[in-house]
Amino acid sequence: MFRKFVDALRRFMYGRYGGDQLYFALIIIFFVISVVNTFIGSYLLWILQYVLLIWAVYRYFSRNIYKRRQENRKFLGIWQSIKNFFAYLGDKFRDRKVCRYRKCKHCHAALRLPIKKGKNSVKCPRCGKSFKVNIWI
Ligand SMILES: [Zn+2]
Repeated sequence: MFRKFVDALRRFMYGRYGGDQLYFALIIIFFVISVVNTFIGSYLLWILQYVLLIWAVYRYFSRNIYKRRQENRKFLGIWQSIKNFFAYLGDKFRDRKVCRYRKCKHCHAALRLPIKKGKNSVKCPRCGKSFKVNIWI
């Protein structure tokens, strides 16, 4: 009986996409919004949460695997840039007594500079160009 059910489920899922990181992110956002919405009771949030849930279920059972993989790759790129931004903020906070972070004006590389108050000349190690940096705090 149970084996028949598992076989039927396996046949149904054959060629379908299934879960990935974007699917789990959508489900987590769905649950977060539904918890928040129990306190707020917004109609717009209610619509948004079910749009997300329907999108997640649609992606799970989709047969267009190539397109779902592209969506997931895009999501992972965005997620990585969000993680990098918060890691950069964390580094800035951790090193706040030792150094300052500034961006190179030419190649936009993040430079970790010792605290020397006033205007200083800095040479970027990535692009090799020099520019002035003002550190006042
Ligand atoms: Zn540079």
